[in-house]
Amino acid sequence: MEVRLVERAEDSLTLELKGVNLSLANALRRHAINEVPVMAVEEVLVMENSSVINNEVLVHRISLIPFVTDLDNYRLPETCDCNNRLGCERCVVRFSLKSSAVNEVITVYSRDMVLESGASIVRPVSGDFPIVKLAPGQALELELYVRLGKGSKHAKWQPGIVTVYDGESGTRRLYVESFGFLPPERIIIEAARAFERVVKDLKSAIEEAMRGG
Ligand SMILES: [Zn+2]
Repeated sequence: MEVRLVERAEDSLTLELKGVNLSLANALRRHAINEVPVMAVEEVLVMENSSVINNEVLVHRISLIPFVTDLDNYRLPETCDCNNRLGCERCVVRFSLKSSAVNEVITVYSRDMVLESGASIVRPVSGDFPIVKLAPGQALELELYVRLGKGSKHAKWQPGIVTVYDGESGTRRLYVESFGFLPPERIIIEAARAFERVVKDLKSAIEEAMRGG
C-alpha cells in the first residue's frame, strides 16, 4: 500500500493510492463525509426577530454556516459526560447575534456573531455570509449554540466533498475538498481514524462472539 500527495491547494488535496482497492477507497470516502465531526450551529434561541424572515427560515440559514472546528478541545454532545442538555465548556461554543436598524436598511452578516463562551479559534469560516436584512425599526437578537456533529446525522455537518476516481496504471485518486471546517488533510486522517475504530469494534465483537460460543 502506497500513498502519494499529488496536489495540495488552498482548500483541497489529491492523494494517489497504490494497492488500495475500490471498496477500501470508498469506505474511506464515506467515513470522511459521514463520520468526521465538525462544528455548526445546532440550536438557536430567538429573543427577538422582527425581520420579514420567519424564525424557521432564519435558523435554517444560520445552521448551514460552516464553523472553523476545534476537534482537539471539544467533544460530540452525545459522548460528553456533562449529561446537560444545554452542554458544557467541552461540548458547546456560545455566540450571540444582536443587531438593529435605525435609519436605513442593514444586512446582518456572519461576522456580526459575538463569541460569548468557548475557544476563540471557533468562528464562522467566513464573515461574509449574509443572514438577514433589517429595515429601520426592525431588530434581531439571538443566542447561538455551536456543537460538533456528524454528516451522518445532518448534511450541515458534512466536512467537504470527497471523490474517488481512477488514476494512471491501476492507481486510484482520492480528492478531498474542505468546506473550511478543517484542513483537508485533517479530514482524511480523521476519516481513517473513524474507520480504524469501526474495524477495532468489529474485531472485539468477533472475539466476544467466539468466547461466548
Ligand atoms: Zn458537555
